[in-house]
Amino acid sequence: MQKMKKDDLVERNTFDAEAEFMEYLRENAPDDYELFDESKSGYSYFENMLISNISKSIPDLINKMSEARGVSPDVYVFCLQKEFVNALCFKKNQHYYIGIYSAAYVELIRRTQILAGYLVRDGQWELYKNRNESELQALLWIDAFRMILTHEFMHIILGHCDTVCNKEAFLWEVSNSDSQNALKNRKQQALEMFADAFAAEDAVQQIFA
Ligand SMILES: [Zn+2]
Repeated sequence: MQKMKKDDLVERNTFDAEAEFMEYLRENAPDDYELFDESKSGYSYFENMLISNISKSIPDLINKMSEARGVSPDVYVFCLQKEFVNALCFKKNQHYYIGIYSAAYVELIRRTQILAGYLVRDGQWELYKNRNESELQALLWIDAFRMILTHEFMHIILGHCDTVCNKEAFLWEVSNSDSQNALKNRKQQALEMFADAFAAEDAVQQIFA
């Protein structure tokens, strides 16, 4: 028994989630992938900063979501440098991986910029009048990103990732599959609906908590 425990500890200490994530992508994805790197991204300083900051807080967000649901999935999240909006998740060796494309981050950041500008300058809501636009944008961005993260987390704890990844390498947000396949599309939409319904339920619980 002693020996097993020690080996378990060694396995945990030497486990490299980033390496396992990238290796799986190299072996199974139809495309080449690179991790987000702010020195190469081409995004603005502020956008890079928002992406880097949220990336650091993701483990904490995942822990809070797990505690709230009474579950403890082993989840790792990475930002992939891609100039279109998508996200994927998969399971490997009992670890769950979420890859969110950088364009999804930036698209949301740019939308929250427009929203913050509107709320501060033209909105009717007193709460947002005379606020610092960048600060408000950052707050709105965190809320918006949490919705994406919660949605992906729900795919994992509802078992969608296990089910889909039994047959296919990835659960995609924006499906690359043949749009002629109506049944498959309907199944995917049903999973999306479930993930959103549960994510919304969590958001409501947080408001009343
Ligand atoms: Zn989804």
